[in-house]
Amino acid sequence: MNLKEEERRARLLKMRAERLPDIKRQFEEAQKRNFNSNFAPGGKDEALVRGKTGAKVKKPTRSTKGSTTATGKNPTTATKATKTTKTATKTTTKATAKAAAKTEAEKRKVNLSVSVKKGEMVHHQRMLSQDVNAQATQHIIGIPVNKSRYNGYNGEQVTNAKIKSARPDPDAVRVIPIGGLGEFGIGKNMTIIEYKSEMIVIDMGVLFAGEDYPGVNYMIPDIKYLEDNMSHVKAILFTHAHLDHIGACRHLLPKFSPLIPIYGTDFTIGMIKKQMSELDDAPDMNYQVVDPLKHEKFQVSEHFSVEFIHTLHSIPGNTAIVVRTPNGLIYLSGDWRHEENPMGIQTDYERIDEIVKKEGIDLMLNESTNIDSPGHHPHSEFDVGESLGSVMDHYANGRVIIACFSSQISRIELILKEAAARGRKVAFSGFSMINNVEVALRAKAIKVPKDTIVKMEDVIKLPDERVCIVCTGSQGEMNAVLNRMITGAHKYIKIKSTDTIVFSSNPIPGNEPHVVNTVDGLLREGAQVIQNGKTHLTNIGPLHLSGHAYYEDHVDFVTRTQPTNYMPYHGEFYMLQHNAEMAENVIGIPKDNILIADDGDIVELTKDKKIRKAGRIHAGNKLYDDADQPVHEAVVKDRIHISREGIFVIVLTLNKKTGHLMKTPDIVSRAFIYLDNSEELIGKIRHYLRQKTDKSISTDPEMKVLKEEIKEDITHILFDATGHTPIVIPVINKV
Ligand SMILES: [Zn+2]
Ligand SMILES: [Zn+2]
Repeated sequence: MNLKEEERRARLLKMRAERLPDIKRQFEEAQKRNFNSNFAPGGKDEALVRGKTGAKVKKPTRSTKGSTTATGKNPTTATKATKTTKTATKTTTKATAKAAAKTEAEKRKVNLSVSVKKGEMVHHQRMLSQDVNAQATQHIIGIPVNKSRYNGYNGEQVTNAKIKSARPDPDAVRVIPIGGLGEFGIGKNMTIIEYKSEMIVIDMGVLFAGEDYPGVNYMIPDIKYLEDNMSHVKAILFTHAHLDHIGACRHLLPKFSPLIPIYGTDFTIGMIKKQMSELDDAPDMNYQVVDPLKHEKFQVSEHFSVEFIHTLHSIPGNTAIVVRTPNGLIYLSGDWRHEENPMGIQTDYERIDEIVKKEGIDLMLNESTNIDSPGHHPHSEFDVGESLGSVMDHYANGRVIIACFSSQISRIELILKEAAARGRKVAFSGFSMINNVEVALRAKAIKVPKDTIVKMEDVIKLPDERVCIVCTGSQGEMNAVLNRMITGAHKYIKIKSTDTIVFSSNPIPGNEPHVVNTVDGLLREGAQVIQNGKTHLTNIGPLHLSGHAYYEDHVDFVTRTQPTNYMPYHGEFYMLQHNAEMAENVIGIPKDNILIADDGDIVELTKDKKIRKAGRIHAGNKLYDDADQPVHEAVVKDRIHISREGIFVIVLTLNKKTGHLMKTPDIVSRAFIYLDNSEELIGKIRHYLRQKTDKSISTDPEMKVLKEEIKEDITHILFDATGHTPIVIPVINKV
């Protein structure tokens, strides 16, 4: 073993020894808390558990109101059931009509010579349509299943009847999330706060749809409720400039009156303007830049006053928002993290403490993203900077290419500093990366060492050891810069074996396979790849710091702020649930003061400072493709269907007078079977079509009826031959 290797091992052992007590302590802390104590003997929900095993309590507590059947039913199934009944009614009407024309239809029947029964095909079609619906409706909200103990109904599922019978309190302040809660993925954040006929809107985010939604790039909240009450909107506020908070601006802001003030920090407003500038006719909006450190209170309407609080996150100009209402003070955390040793100005804890002491927080909405990460952040942004510096030292002779999120302005500042100290020049690549750096420079959110930034076309003229490139693509996006550098599609850079690529990020859940693919591509080119969380491979790390508070940070913060009522937000359902459990079990907030709401729920904050659910508003999504054009849900369903089963078109040309086939039917198959290899099947179909048209001549059915019959028969023939039911489209021309 050489000296270097010995040193490395010693260092690793030391690191492990240092970390061990920390891990042990976290484990002990967690054990002390005894999380599932609610169900333990003597616990708050002991009866529920005993009820289930049937030991003592016959009926579970939930059934006391005698409405188990209705409430216990999964609402999705319930809706489906109603749907089925509807279809059933339709079928019945159809059936009566069919009965009348039965003899006629009987005359047109063709022997399909298939071995598979029609019932099997129908079953296949039903399963398929269930699958397609399930895939296409992962984001559909309707009445969500929420039987959490914090659902506001003591764990009972809310029903349509219950929503209708809800009696709103006219003097309550209403908090209505219309996106961002319990979503499939994180995003689409948007919240309304309403009192009588005044409303304020906080954030307008997007959610990236993922591969289950073919051809859909992102979705935004459906704001029908706001559109119906446009004149009530008094102000629009933005917590920070991440796309899950401002990404829907382009689509939504133009719907509002340009007189409504739009509040945000310098950097946030700069990013919103950048977004809006992508519109062909960007409206001139009433932007109001806020400096949160001034502690200004903006009286935005008769009953609402708002204040921005400076907090730390992974983007400049980040804030929480305090809303003072007639029924008390609401604190919306926005996104945040805690850092002992931050790069910029520390979170304004002084102001937060002052508000807590003088006024108290009556309702806190606290983000939930990293509630599942134990402990505190193990390191600071400075440590990340140091690691990036050590990469430049270790691989001193080659180019260093760093991939990170384009909004990580502090990270970019550190890279510039580390590069400048080593005589490397920095070039940025990627549309959003260049945009964001520009906005940051204008908002003075970033300090840049002199003569360090150069253009891409200039950086390639420098010797490798003086080159540093910061780019997008850390999530393995196919069309992002990093992948283009691998394939050689990039205008200036082709990866070579002396390059070192750093992933200064973590894969967002769901993106892992794409990141792996990109890493593989880089390694195949012989390059060095250094990823966060893999210190044991390279002895370099940490390389990323998450923007969201960890579990113990939440414990500290909620202990510090002691809100009367607590509502987890910004997270998938399990995050909301774990956040609520933390508030009850660790902080000791009573269960009745904690609510897990869903998008569309109306949460009332009453005069006596209680929270309760009081009905729902319409909530949903609007889908968009990568050209910013709307995509209808039905189109998505068709795409999913076609991607699984394909499409099959038959074109018949009939003589107008005689009804005879004028020529051989044209057949088009896409994403289904390759026609050249399917002569036998095509022959069978043509034969069927000839017989069918011949038999139809005497009865001369309506075109619609004939098409329907052909569609059904062809589907049956295709299913018999292939086990698939593509979308069959018969086209009949009469000439
Ligand atoms: Zn954020
Ligand atoms: Zn966010």
